Amino acid sequence: TRPVHIIGGGLAGSEAAWQLARRGVPVVLHEMRPERGTQAHKTDALAELVCSNSFRSDDAQNNAVGVLHAEMRRLGSLIMACADRHQIPAGGALAVDRDGFSAAVTTAIASRPEITLARGEVAGLPPQDWDSVIVATGPLTSPALAEAIRARTDEQALAFFDAIAPIVHFDSIDMEVCWFQSRYDKVGPGGTGADYINCPMDREQYEAFVAALVASDTVPFKDFETEAGANTPYFDGCLPIEVMATRGPETLRHGPMKPMGLTNAHNPAVKPYAVVQLRQDNALGTLYNMVGFQTKARHAEQVRLFRMIPGLEKAEFARLGGLHRNTYLNSPRVLDATLRLKAEPRLRFAGQITGCEGYVESSAMGLMAGLFTAAERLGRDLALPPATTAHGALINHITGGHIETVEAGPRSFQPMNINFGLFPPLEAAPTRDAEGNRLRGTQKTVAKKQVMAARALADLDAWAAQHADAASEAAA
Ligand code: FAD
Repeated sequence: TRPVHIIGGGLAGSEAAWQLARRGVPVVLHEMRPERGTQAHKTDALAELVCSNSFRSDDAQNNAVGVLHAEMRRLGSLIMACADRHQIPAGGALAVDRDGFSAAVTTAIASRPEITLARGEVAGLPPQDWDSVIVATGPLTSPALAEAIRARTDEQALAFFDAIAPIVHFDSIDMEVCWFQSRYDKVGPGGTGADYINCPMDREQYEAFVAALVASDTVPFKDFETEAGANTPYFDGCLPIEVMATRGPETLRHGPMKPMGLTNAHNPAVKPYAVVQLRQDNALGTLYNMVGFQTKARHAEQVRLFRMIPGLEKAEFARLGGLHRNTYLNSPRVLDATLRLKAEPRLRFAGQITGCEGYVESSAMGLMAGLFTAAERLGRDLALPPATTAHGALINHITGGHIETVEAGPRSFQPMNINFGLFPPLEAAPTRDAEGNRLRGTQKTVAKKQVMAARALADLDAWAAQHADAASEAAA
């Protein structure tokens, strides 16, 4: 059989190669290091961790990334096996000895006769006779390949920076203070005229908020993020909110916080002085992003600042804002449900370049790309994992679960870590604990997460059993 070519021996590429090899499919794994480096990698090992050594929470009962860990273990993940073997103490988190971890992945890949490791950059679109390719070149994809991918898709399809506004869990927004309304009640395609959540501010609140923004503590850019060749970090319409605030006290009121065309449903007589708008972020309606609030403020600072906004005093953030170097596709538009480029299906994408975020998520999307590609090569059926699983929720976020909204035009797709806001809501939220006591406040949130976590693992097991030949351990 002809080999599958995988470009990038990072977390996703190594995991995908492993999944293919376990199923007997030959692989050529192309890794440009050490011949050519990136701005963050320091070694020539496969699956190098470029920054922190943590895979975050390992709690599969209460935490979405813990659920993802558990699912990956059940699907025979190489990355999780190596992480478990090189775990170091870190409370409830799964932290690893980074050198031991990467060495273990490198050795495991070298031990598989099905895998040929080819050191060297793939400096453009792969040759046409590579009929099955997984592109897993990560957030620091080499410029030659990134340019070729951009040319093959289009100008807007590949981003070089993520400019992220905070994303809030809908159920933490105080709707006694906020209200649903689109500016001037405008009804766009698929909209209702009430597509935004609005948070009103009076003059005093606005001035205090602007002053706090101006004084906020921000994260500086790293050198490689601003060097020649990288796009300028501040591009059209993507100024960080705190930078806008420094341009004058009225700037925000005439920009993202303008109050025009909005009437406070709770208090129609009083015109708000400024309004913060949140736009639905996923088709499920569980997440809302703060429109125009991309920011480089430090994370703790963001929570403090944004909880000053009326209605967001108790906001829980699915992700906080940021602005950094990242290469990723506009996946909802250009990828199909199994991560193939619609315009050229021989190219499948995996890892962070698909628009997920984080070591674990990138590895999980490598695992899925490996399973999909193996199923194709071996002529087996493989349905998508259900959206109730962590893998399914992530794929759904990346490829499909998006809405193109109204005035704003196509939704701007931003990378995100796995979180419970990406899972379909429960049909009935738990109201009582196992002893029959009524749940209150945060107990309800905890119970909800636990039910979602258990649902995810049960549904993953059912899916894996149904596709035993294509997805489960038994195929190894
Ligand atoms: P990578 O692990 O980067 O693997 C891509 C591989 O492709 C690399 O080995 C690269 O050398 C190779 N490559 C690139 N172009 C080519 C080419 N043309 N030909 C051949 N090979 C090529 N996530 C976290 O969870 N925690 C963190 O602390 C964290 N810190 C980060 C810090 C930085 C500076 C960056 C940029 C990202 C960080 N991330 C972090 C995000 C992300 O999880 C990691 O980048 C993760 O490694 C992505 O996995 P990946 O497999 O998609 O890409």
